[in-house]
Amino acid sequence: MIRPGRMFLKVICSFFKKPATSMYPFIKIEKPAKFRGKLKFYQERCIGCKLCMKDCPSNAITIVNVGQPAAQNAAGAEPQKPAEKKFEAIVDLDKCLYCAQCVDSCMKKALEATREFELASLDHKKLKVKI
Ligand code: SF4
Ligand code: SF4
Repeated sequence: MIRPGRMFLKVICSFFKKPATSMYPFIKIEKPAKFRGKLKFYQERCIGCKLCMKDCPSNAITIVNVGQPAAQNAAGAEPQKPAEKKFEAIVDLDKCLYCAQCVDSCMKKALEATREFELASLDHKKLKVKI
């Protein structure tokens, strides 16, 4: 057990020591070269295969088809206009592990891990975002 006198000395000494913690957010440290942050989605490259969804370990990414359906003619006739293929990616920022498995799984390079990491929000609804 440390005697009160010795403990007091340690407290005084700690005032002159370099702190072990950093002064975030006032001072920002350099991120490592392979840092993985928020995902970026390249809509024009996505083919809607949903491999990223299947491989995501935390079910954090959802690919949604937002293209227009085929324009229909009279019953049985060929559609006037084929269905449009257009996809959106929705990510639950609080479920995402930032592992970048989805980036590796995407054969079309439609996903990329950026260096953005300041994503905290007090409103849970704001953590489900279109990327
Ligand atoms: S982002 Fe890539 S893996 Fe995901 S649905 Fe689009 S093409 Fe497929
Ligand atoms: S980075 Fe990992 S956890 Fe996040 S959406 Fe991609 S596969 Fe899922």
